Amino acid sequence: GRPVAPADCRNWVTEQQLTADWDISHMLGSGNFSEVKLGVNVKRGEKFAVKIIDKKKFLQFQSKRESQLCLNDEADVLRSLRHPGIVQCADWFQTDAHLYLVMELVQGGDLLQCILENGCFLERQSKRLFRQLCETVDYLHNTMYIVHRDLKPENILLSNKDRETTQAKIADFGLARKNMKSRDCRTFCGTPHYFAPEVINTFRDRESGQQAGYGKQADMWSLGVILYILLSGTPPFEEEGLYEQITEGKYEFDVREWTTVTPEAKALVRSLMTVDPKHRLSIKQALDHTWLRYPVLGSPARL
Ligand code: ADP
Ligand code: MG
Repeated sequence: GRPVAPADCRNWVTEQQLTADWDISHMLGSGNFSEVKLGVNVKRGEKFAVKIIDKKKFLQFQSKRESQLCLNDEADVLRSLRHPGIVQCADWFQTDAHLYLVMELVQGGDLLQCILENGCFLERQSKRLFRQLCETVDYLHNTMYIVHRDLKPENILLSNKDRETTQAKIADFGLARKNMKSRDCRTFCGTPHYFAPEVINTFRDRESGQQAGYGKQADMWSLGVILYILLSGTPPFEEEGLYEQITEGKYEFDVREWTTVTPEAKALVRSLMTVDPKHRLSIKQALDHTWLRYPVLGSPARL
Protein backbone atom coordinates (compact mmCIF):
# COMPACT_ATOMS: atom_id res chain seq x y z
CA GLY A 1 0.00 0.00 0.00
CA ARG A 2 0.92 3.66 0.20
CA PRO A 3 3.82 4.48 2.48
CA VAL A 4 2.88 6.52 5.51
CA ALA A 5 4.16 10.02 4.87
CA PRO A 6 5.66 12.06 7.72
CA ALA A 7 3.87 15.20 8.82
CA ASP A 8 5.42 17.36 6.15
CA CYS A 9 5.39 15.61 2.82
CA ARG A 10 5.82 18.58 0.53
CA ASN A 11 8.04 18.30 -2.57
CA TRP A 12 8.31 14.53 -2.46
CA VAL A 13 10.17 12.88 -5.34
CA THR A 14 11.19 9.32 -6.09
CA GLU A 15 14.82 8.22 -6.46
CA GLN A 16 14.13 7.65 -10.17
CA GLN A 17 12.88 11.19 -10.68
CA LEU A 18 15.88 12.50 -8.79
CA THR A 19 18.46 10.69 -10.91
CA ALA A 20 16.61 11.65 -14.09
CA ASP A 21 16.67 15.36 -13.22
CA TRP A 22 19.98 15.73 -11.41
CA ASP A 23 23.57 14.78 -12.01
CA ILE A 24 25.06 14.92 -8.52
CA SER A 25 28.83 14.48 -8.36
CA HIS A 26 31.76 15.54 -6.20
CA MET A 27 31.71 16.76 -2.63
CA LEU A 28 32.05 20.48 -1.89
CA GLY A 29 31.88 20.14 1.87
CA SER A 30 30.23 18.25 4.68
CA GLY A 31 28.89 18.55 8.21
CA ASN A 32 27.23 16.50 10.95
CA PHE A 33 24.38 14.99 9.02
CA SER A 34 24.75 16.48 5.59
CA GLU A 35 26.93 16.51 2.52
CA VAL A 36 27.12 19.34 0.02
CA LYS A 37 27.79 18.21 -3.53
CA LEU A 38 27.98 19.70 -6.98
CA GLY A 39 24.66 19.17 -8.74
CA VAL A 40 23.94 19.76 -12.39
CA ASN A 41 20.35 20.21 -13.46
CA VAL A 42 20.26 17.80 -16.41
CA LYS A 43 17.61 19.61 -18.46
CA ARG A 44 19.05 23.11 -18.17
CA GLY A 45 22.70 22.23 -17.65
CA GLU A 46 22.93 24.65 -14.71
CA LYS A 47 25.31 24.08 -11.80
CA PHE A 48 24.21 24.24 -8.17
CA ALA A 49 25.44 23.26 -4.73
CA VAL A 50 23.10 20.59 -3.40
CA LYS A 51 22.97 20.05 0.35
CA ILE A 52 21.88 16.49 1.05
CA ILE A 53 20.57 16.01 4.57
CA ASP A 54 20.29 12.51 6.01
CA LYS A 55 16.80 12.58 7.55
CA LYS A 56 17.39 9.71 9.95
CA LYS A 57 20.60 11.20 11.34
CA PHE A 58 18.98 14.61 11.58
CA LEU A 59 16.02 13.29 13.55
CA GLN A 60 18.24 11.25 15.88
CA PHE A 61 20.29 14.36 16.54
CA GLN A 62 17.20 16.49 17.13
CA SER A 63 15.63 14.08 19.61
CA LYS A 64 18.68 14.53 21.84
CA ARG A 65 18.25 18.28 21.88
CA GLU A 66 15.96 20.71 23.60
CA SER A 67 15.12 22.63 20.48
CA GLN A 68 12.20 21.71 18.33
CA LEU A 69 13.65 22.15 14.89
CA CYS A 70 11.90 20.45 11.99
CA LEU A 71 13.52 18.91 8.98
CA ASN A 72 12.12 21.49 6.62
CA ASP A 73 12.96 24.54 8.72
CA GLU A 74 16.29 25.14 7.01
CA ALA A 75 14.68 25.10 3.56
CA ASP A 76 11.79 27.30 4.69
CA VAL A 77 14.03 29.85 6.40
CA LEU A 78 16.48 29.99 3.52
CA ARG A 79 13.70 30.34 0.95
CA SER A 80 12.29 33.30 2.86
CA LEU A 81 15.59 35.23 2.62
CA ARG A 82 16.84 37.34 -0.23
CA HIS A 83 20.08 39.22 0.31
CA PRO A 84 23.46 39.46 -1.45
CA GLY A 85 25.10 38.31 1.81
CA ILE A 86 23.05 35.11 2.09
CA VAL A 87 23.40 32.00 -0.02
CA GLN A 88 20.36 31.73 -2.29
CA CYS A 89 18.20 28.63 -2.15
CA ALA A 90 16.64 27.90 -5.54
CA ASP A 91 14.58 24.85 -4.65
CA TRP A 92 14.25 21.92 -2.29
CA PHE A 93 12.81 18.43 -2.44
CA GLN A 94 12.90 15.19 -0.51
CA THR A 95 13.06 11.45 -1.02
CA ASP A 96 12.31 8.86 1.66
CA ALA A 97 15.84 9.05 3.05
CA HIS A 98 17.14 12.51 2.20
CA LEU A 99 16.25 16.17 2.04
CA TYR A 100 17.84 18.14 -0.81
CA LEU A 101 18.50 21.86 -0.71
CA VAL A 102 19.37 23.29 -4.11
CA MET A 103 21.56 26.34 -3.54
CA GLU A 104 23.51 28.76 -5.68
CA LEU A 105 27.04 27.45 -6.19
CA VAL A 106 29.40 29.74 -4.30
CA GLN A 107 32.78 29.47 -6.01
CA GLY A 108 35.35 30.77 -3.53
CA GLY A 109 35.03 28.08 -0.84
CA ASP A 110 34.37 28.84 2.81
CA LEU A 111 36.13 31.30 5.09
CA LEU A 112 37.76 28.58 7.18
CA GLN A 113 39.45 27.04 4.12
CA CYS A 114 40.49 30.51 3.04
CA ILE A 115 42.19 31.31 6.35
CA LEU A 116 43.77 27.87 6.68
CA GLU A 117 45.23 28.24 3.18
CA ASN A 118 46.41 31.84 3.30
CA GLY A 119 46.40 32.99 6.90
CA CYS A 120 44.76 36.03 8.42
CA PHE A 121 43.24 38.94 6.49
CA LEU A 122 44.86 42.36 6.33
CA GLU A 123 43.06 44.86 8.51
CA ARG A 124 41.34 46.67 5.65
CA GLN A 125 40.30 43.34 4.10
CA SER A 126 38.95 42.22 7.47
CA LYS A 127 37.01 45.44 7.75
CA ARG A 128 35.50 45.07 4.31
CA LEU A 129 34.43 41.48 4.89
CA PHE A 130 33.26 42.08 8.44
CA ARG A 131 31.13 45.02 7.37
CA GLN A 132 29.41 42.78 4.83
CA LEU A 133 28.77 40.20 7.53
CA CYS A 134 27.35 42.84 9.89
CA GLU A 135 25.05 44.25 7.23
CA THR A 136 23.75 40.76 6.52
CA VAL A 137 23.24 39.99 10.21
CA ASP A 138 21.40 43.32 10.55
CA TYR A 139 19.04 42.14 7.81
CA LEU A 140 18.55 38.81 9.60
CA HIS A 141 18.02 40.29 13.09
CA ASN A 142 16.09 43.43 12.34
CA THR A 143 14.28 42.82 9.06
CA MET A 144 13.59 39.08 9.21
CA TYR A 145 13.71 38.47 13.01
CA ILE A 146 15.93 35.48 12.46
CA VAL A 147 18.83 34.36 14.62
CA HIS A 148 21.39 32.21 12.87
CA ARG A 149 22.89 30.54 15.99
CA ASP A 150 25.75 28.89 14.14
CA LEU A 151 27.89 31.70 12.75
CA LYS A 152 31.45 30.49 12.20
CA PRO A 153 34.04 30.60 9.40
CA GLU A 154 33.01 27.27 7.85
CA ASN A 155 29.45 28.59 7.46
CA ILE A 156 30.57 31.72 5.62
CA LEU A 157 31.07 31.23 1.91
CA LEU A 158 33.08 33.49 -0.38
CA SER A 159 32.00 34.45 -3.89
CA ASN A 160 35.63 34.31 -5.03
CA LYS A 161 39.09 33.90 -3.57
CA ASP A 162 40.24 37.50 -4.06
CA ARG A 163 40.17 39.11 -0.61
CA GLU A 164 39.83 42.59 -2.10
CA THR A 165 36.62 41.92 -4.02
CA THR A 166 34.98 38.86 -2.51
CA GLN A 167 31.39 38.89 -1.24
CA ALA A 168 30.73 36.93 1.95
CA LYS A 169 27.60 34.81 1.93
CA ILE A 170 26.20 33.37 5.12
CA ALA A 171 25.16 29.72 4.76
CA ASP A 172 23.99 26.82 6.94
CA PHE A 173 20.69 27.90 8.44
CA GLY A 174 20.32 24.45 9.98
CA LEU A 175 20.07 25.88 13.50
CA ALA A 176 18.47 29.19 12.59
CA ARG A 177 15.08 30.09 13.86
CA LYS A 178 12.58 32.84 13.93
CA ASN A 179 13.33 35.01 16.93
CA MET A 180 11.25 34.19 19.99
CA LYS A 181 9.39 37.46 19.65
CA SER A 182 6.10 35.69 19.27
CA ARG A 183 6.72 32.33 20.85
CA ASP A 184 4.91 29.49 19.17
CA CYS A 185 3.28 26.50 20.77
CA ARG A 186 5.87 23.94 19.88
CA THR A 187 8.03 24.94 22.83
CA PHE A 188 5.34 25.13 25.44
CA CYS A 189 1.98 23.64 24.73
CA GLY A 190 -1.22 23.56 26.70
CA THR A 191 -2.28 25.32 29.84
CA PRO A 192 0.40 25.77 32.50
CA HIS A 193 -1.95 25.44 35.49
CA TYR A 194 -1.44 21.71 35.81
CA PHE A 195 2.27 21.45 35.22
CA ALA A 196 4.58 20.11 37.93
CA PRO A 197 7.21 22.55 39.25
CA GLU A 198 10.02 20.71 37.53
CA VAL A 199 8.26 21.11 34.19
CA ILE A 200 7.93 24.84 34.76
CA ASN A 201 11.57 25.02 35.77
CA THR A 202 12.66 23.27 32.62
CA PHE A 203 10.63 25.77 30.69
CA ARG A 204 12.12 28.69 32.59
CA ASP A 205 15.63 27.41 32.07
CA ARG A 206 14.92 26.94 28.45
CA GLU A 207 13.47 30.40 28.18
CA SER A 208 16.41 32.16 29.80
CA GLY A 209 18.65 29.89 27.76
CA GLN A 210 17.00 31.18 24.66
CA GLN A 211 17.61 34.74 25.70
CA ALA A 212 21.16 34.23 26.81
CA GLY A 213 22.31 31.39 24.63
CA TYR A 214 20.18 31.48 21.58
CA GLY A 215 19.10 35.05 21.10
CA LYS A 216 20.42 37.66 18.75
CA GLN A 217 23.23 38.44 21.19
CA ALA A 218 24.64 34.94 20.72
CA ASP A 219 25.16 35.79 17.06
CA MET A 220 27.00 38.94 18.16
CA TRP A 221 29.44 36.90 20.26
CA SER A 222 30.06 34.65 17.27
CA LEU A 223 30.74 37.69 15.10
CA GLY A 224 33.36 38.77 17.66
CA VAL A 225 35.06 35.38 17.41
CA ILE A 226 34.97 35.59 13.61
CA LEU A 227 36.57 39.06 13.68
CA TYR A 228 39.23 37.77 16.07
CA ILE A 229 40.02 34.96 13.62
CA LEU A 230 39.97 37.24 10.55
CA LEU A 231 42.51 39.61 12.10
CA SER A 232 44.84 37.05 13.64
CA GLY A 233 44.33 33.78 11.74
CA THR A 234 43.97 31.93 15.08
CA PRO A 235 40.96 31.09 17.26
CA PRO A 236 40.69 32.99 20.57
CA PHE A 237 40.33 29.90 22.78
CA GLU A 238 42.31 26.73 23.27
CA GLU A 239 40.78 23.28 23.09
CA GLU A 240 41.57 22.50 26.72
CA GLY A 241 39.11 23.92 29.22
CA LEU A 242 37.18 25.52 26.40
CA TYR A 243 33.88 26.04 28.26
CA GLU A 244 35.58 27.78 31.19
CA GLN A 245 37.57 30.05 28.93
CA ILE A 246 34.39 31.04 27.13
CA THR A 247 32.16 31.58 30.17
CA GLU A 248 34.90 33.59 31.87
CA GLY A 249 35.77 35.45 28.69
CA LYS A 250 39.41 34.42 28.98
CA TYR A 251 41.13 35.33 25.75
CA GLU A 252 44.07 37.48 24.79
CA PHE A 253 45.48 39.29 21.81
CA ASP A 254 48.71 37.40 22.19
CA VAL A 255 49.82 36.07 18.82
CA ARG A 256 52.31 38.08 16.75
CA GLU A 257 49.64 39.09 14.18
CA TRP A 258 47.97 41.36 16.76
CA THR A 259 50.97 43.65 17.14
CA THR A 260 50.10 45.60 13.98
CA VAL A 261 46.33 45.67 14.47
CA THR A 262 44.79 49.03 15.43
CA PRO A 263 43.41 49.57 18.95
CA GLU A 264 39.98 50.32 17.41
CA ALA A 265 39.81 46.85 15.89
CA LYS A 266 40.73 45.21 19.20
CA ALA A 267 38.16 47.38 20.96
CA LEU A 268 35.45 46.11 18.62
CA VAL A 269 36.48 42.49 19.23
CA ARG A 270 36.29 43.14 22.99
CA SER A 271 32.88 44.80 22.81
CA LEU A 272 31.54 41.82 20.85
CA MET A 273 33.27 39.13 22.89
CA THR A 274 31.76 40.46 26.11
CA VAL A 275 30.48 37.73 28.43
CA ASP A 276 27.31 39.49 29.59
CA PRO A 277 24.93 39.59 26.60
CA LYS A 278 23.31 42.75 27.94
CA HIS A 279 26.62 44.59 27.74
CA ARG A 280 27.59 43.10 24.40
CA LEU A 281 27.08 45.27 21.31
CA SER A 282 23.92 44.77 19.28
CA ILE A 283 24.24 44.60 15.50
CA LYS A 284 23.21 48.26 15.14
CA GLN A 285 25.86 49.29 17.66
CA ALA A 286 28.48 47.18 15.89
CA LEU A 287 27.70 48.85 12.56
CA ASP A 288 28.03 52.17 14.32
CA HIS A 289 31.45 51.32 15.83
CA THR A 290 34.34 53.64 14.92
CA TRP A 291 36.35 50.83 13.38
CA LEU A 292 33.61 49.93 10.91
CA ARG A 293 32.70 53.50 10.08
CA TYR A 294 36.13 54.80 9.18
CA PRO A 295 38.97 53.61 6.94
CA VAL A 296 41.96 51.97 8.57
CA LEU A 297 44.32 54.31 10.40
CA GLY A 298 47.65 53.39 11.94
CA SER A 299 50.49 51.12 10.96
CA PRO A 300 50.76 51.02 7.17
CA ALA A 301 52.71 47.75 7.33
CA ARG A 302 49.63 45.59 7.27
CA LEU A 303 47.05 47.82 5.63
P1 ADP B 1 26.30 21.47 7.64
O1 ADP B 1 24.95 21.90 8.14
O2 ADP B 1 26.39 20.00 7.51
O3 ADP B 1 27.42 22.09 8.39
P2 ADP B 1 26.74 23.44 5.53
O4 ADP B 1 25.51 24.04 4.95
O5 ADP B 1 27.49 24.25 6.52
O6 ADP B 1 26.37 21.99 6.12
O7 ADP B 1 27.71 23.03 4.34
C1 ADP B 1 28.91 22.29 4.60
C2 ADP B 1 30.06 22.83 3.77
O8 ADP B 1 29.77 22.70 2.37
C3 ADP B 1 30.36 24.31 3.98
O9 ADP B 1 31.23 24.52 5.09
C4 ADP B 1 31.00 24.71 2.64
O10 ADP B 1 32.37 24.37 2.62
C5 ADP B 1 30.26 23.82 1.63
N1 ADP B 1 29.10 24.53 1.03
C6 ADP B 1 27.89 24.68 1.60
N2 ADP B 1 27.04 25.37 0.81
C7 ADP B 1 27.73 25.69 -0.31
C8 ADP B 1 27.41 26.40 -1.51
N3 ADP B 1 26.19 26.94 -1.71
N4 ADP B 1 28.38 26.55 -2.45
C9 ADP B 1 29.60 26.03 -2.26
N5 ADP B 1 29.97 25.32 -1.15
C10 ADP B 1 29.06 25.15 -0.18
MG1 MG C 1 28.05 24.09 8.51
